[in-house]
Amino acid sequence: MFSITSSAIFGTTAIPVSVEVDIASGLPQFTIVGLPDASVRESRDRIKAAIKNSGFQFPRGHVTVNLAPAHLRKQGACYDLPIAMAILCRSGQLDENALVSSVLLGELGLHGEIRTQRGVLATTLMAKQNGHLRIFVPKNNAAEAALVEGIGIFGIETIQELVAHMRGDQPIIQQPPTQPNTSQEDRVDFAMIRGQESAKRALEIAASGGHHLLLSGPPGTGKTLLARSIAGILPTLTREEMLEVTSIASIAGIGLNPGVLLQRPLRSPHHSASAAALVGGGSLPRPGEITLSHRGVLFLDELPEFSSRVLEHLRQPLEEGEVVIARAHETVRFPAQFQLIATMNPCPCGYFNDPKRACTCAFGEVDRYRKKISGPLLDRIDLFASVPNLQVSDLETSVSETSACVQRRVQTARERQQDRYKIIGIKTNAQLSQKNLDAYCSLNKQLTQLLHACFARGMLSMRGYTRIKKIARTIADLAGAEQIEKAHLIEALQYKERL
Ligand SMILES: [Zn+2]
Repeated sequence: MFSITSSAIFGTTAIPVSVEVDIASGLPQFTIVGLPDASVRESRDRIKAAIKNSGFQFPRGHVTVNLAPAHLRKQGACYDLPIAMAILCRSGQLDENALVSSVLLGELGLHGEIRTQRGVLATTLMAKQNGHLRIFVPKNNAAEAALVEGIGIFGIETIQELVAHMRGDQPIIQQPPTQPNTSQEDRVDFAMIRGQESAKRALEIAASGGHHLLLSGPPGTGKTLLARSIAGILPTLTREEMLEVTSIASIAGIGLNPGVLLQRPLRSPHHSASAAALVGGGSLPRPGEITLSHRGVLFLDELPEFSSRVLEHLRQPLEEGEVVIARAHETVRFPAQFQLIATMNPCPCGYFNDPKRACTCAFGEVDRYRKKISGPLLDRIDLFASVPNLQVSDLETSVSETSACVQRRVQTARERQQDRYKIIGIKTNAQLSQKNLDAYCSLNKQLTQLLHACFARGMLSMRGYTRIKKIARTIADLAGAEQIEKAHLIEALQYKERL
C-alpha cells in the first residue's frame, strides 16, 4: 500500500512513522488513527483548510489516515504535511511516484504554509540511516537538516511549492551543506579577565580532566564571569558530537546558530528552576537543562540558592550520565554527560574569612548555608577553588593568556587521557573509578607518605583523598608528565575542599 514516511521523536531519537491513506465511497468523513485525541481534531481542520486554500480538492467520501506503528505516541503537528500530500496522491491529484524514497515533515497553516518544526535534525539523521534519498522540511529548518551529508535536503514554504516541484513545473533547489564554523562570539575570553590566576588555573584543570568545579568567593569578584569563561577553553566538539548536541537543541526548540555549533554548550538555569526544567519532563517528555548541557557545561550560579529538593534530582544523572524519565506507558532516556561548574558565596553575607571585611552572619548561619548543598552533590565535585577580591597588584599584572592558548593545552591533556584510557573505555581522569585509581594514579613512596600525613592531620577526608589523586593526574597530564610528581600533588592540594 502507498505510504509516506515521516517520523516521531522519542527521547532524542527519531523513529520512522508511515502515513497511509484510504479513500472509500460513503458519507463524507475524515478519520485519523494513531494520534492523541486533541491533536487529531486540530490537524484535521488544518489539513482540510490548507488543501482547499492551496487550490486543491479535499476528496469526497470516507478518508481514513493511519499513522503506523500505532503503539508509538505521536505529537500531532509535524504529520500535517505528509498527511496532506498522501491525500493529494491517493485522490489522484498528484503522482505518488514523485515522493518515492522521500521523508516529509511539517506543520501546516490554514493557507498551506509550512511551519518550523522541532527535531528536524534527528529526523534527517534517521532518514539518511534508513537509506532515503531526500527529505522535505520546512524552509526555516533546511539549514539545520543540511548538517547531515549524503541525503538531498529540500526546504519548502508552501504546499503549492512542493506540488510544483513534484510536477516538475518549478523544481526546488537543493539546500547546500551547512558548514559549522568556530567563531567565539558571545564567549568570555580569558584575556578579558584581570588577575584571578589561581581560579583560571582551576578552570584549566577542570576543563582538562572533565572535573566538576565549585568556585567560592565574596560577591563582586567576578565568579560568574570566570565560570562562564570555561566554555572558551574546552576542546571543540567533534563532528559526531556536534550532530548529537545540535539535534538535542533542535528537539528542545532552540534555534540554529552555525557560528557556535562546534562549541560545547553552556547552560545556566536560574536558581528558581523546577526539577522538570532541570532534568526534563512533561507528559511527552522533553529534555531539561542537564540534557541541553550534554557534552558541555551545566553552570549553577549561586548554588545554595537552588532548592535542595531540585538539586537532589541531579544525583542519578551525575552517576549515570543519563536521565531516565518514567511515564505510565513508556520510559524515556535522555543523555546527560555534563560537567558541573557552580559558584557560591562563602556565607550568606559573603564575607566569611575575608581579610578586609567582617562577616555579619549570625552564629550557626554559615553552617546552615553550607549544608544546603547536599552531600551527594558535593561528593561528585573534584575541584574547589576560591575567588578572592582583587588586590592592587592584580591590576598591574600583564594581560593574561587568551582562551585559544589555554584551549590548546587542554586539548593536548585530553588526548593524553584518551590514549591512556582507551582500554578501559573512559575518556577523562574525572571518570576514573575507585577500582582503576591505583593503576592510573599511582604515587611513589614519598608522595604517598605526604598524602597520608595530610589525612592523619585531618586536612583531607577519605573522598578528598581520592579526588586529590585524580586532580594531580590531570595536572601531570597538563605538564606532559608520565608519572605524578611532587609539584603536581602539591598544586592539587590547593584545590581540596576546605573542611
Ligand atoms: Zn557572612
